[in-house]
Amino acid sequence: MNEILENALKTGKIAGAYLIAGSSPEAAQEQIDEFLLRVFCHTGTGCRTCPGCVKYLRRSHADLFMIEPTKNTISIGDVRDIPAAIAKKPYEGGFQAVVIARADAMTPQAQNALLKAVEEPPDHTVFMLGVQNTKNILPTILSRCIILKTSFSPAETERLLHEEHGVPTLRARVLTAAAKGDYHLAAAYLSKGFFEIRDDMILALNRLFTARNMATSATLELFLKHEGALDLCFVTAQQYIADVLLYKHTGRVSVYEDKLREIEQHAQMRDFVLVNIQRILLEYTAKRAQCAGLNVKLALESMLFHILEVIL
Ligand SMILES: [Zn+2]
Repeated sequence: MNEILENALKTGKIAGAYLIAGSSPEAAQEQIDEFLLRVFCHTGTGCRTCPGCVKYLRRSHADLFMIEPTKNTISIGDVRDIPAAIAKKPYEGGFQAVVIARADAMTPQAQNALLKAVEEPPDHTVFMLGVQNTKNILPTILSRCIILKTSFSPAETERLLHEEHGVPTLRARVLTAAAKGDYHLAAAYLSKGFFEIRDDMILALNRLFTARNMATSATLELFLKHEGALDLCFVTAQQYIADVLLYKHTGRVSVYEDKLREIEQHAQMRDFVLVNIQRILLEYTAKRAQCAGLNVKLALESMLFHILEVIL
């Protein structure tokens, strides 16, 4: 469970409103259930067998107000009764909870109708909101919530890249691996032009390997084309070389499974060359991090000559 929620349970200091951001409605609901089971459980453990847990799981607990979208939105009619309902004390003497796992489906009118209750919830009342996109939530509501960012499993990341961003399945898997399963990082990579950059880096390395010193200016152009995303250039180039080395020794790749043909070809290079290119790429990355005023073009040029020295 999220550390903040865990801590709230431990100390008994449960806030008036939590907002679980960046998560699919199913994942948000899962987190909310995990937390509220322990709130409603008679033993505080979320045992799933005591009357409190059972009533919660059946969604029949008298102190649970669960709001689901009818059609695609949650309108004012769906939430209008909530403020009056929670103004009464909890029936069972513990907490009462308002759960909206798809809070971003609320119309602005619905959000306004809840605003006062979220701002000043009655004692022993907790709002649990799940949203995929905080953009759809009124700032006044956001400012009253403790915002919890969730992380996705790699499988969820893959699915979201495919469904929300239209990335084809194989590419979604590659991008997920490149971002180490982190959805937000993957989405950020994608917006910077991940696949074009990655392909250009493979092209750049290929030119260095094959055309040797004839290729420096054309290769430099490939880096400069992505000057705004040089960090990603280096991430992808390093990942690629790491995959070539891995493939060479194990026959597997860990990230770029869609580039097997190129990887197979480049695995002909000697280990000494590949390892040294990796080292040079790392050195350049470190240098970039240290020197703010680095002349990018000159530094890249010198890096490419270093790589050529190793290859030739
Ligand atoms: Zn229980």
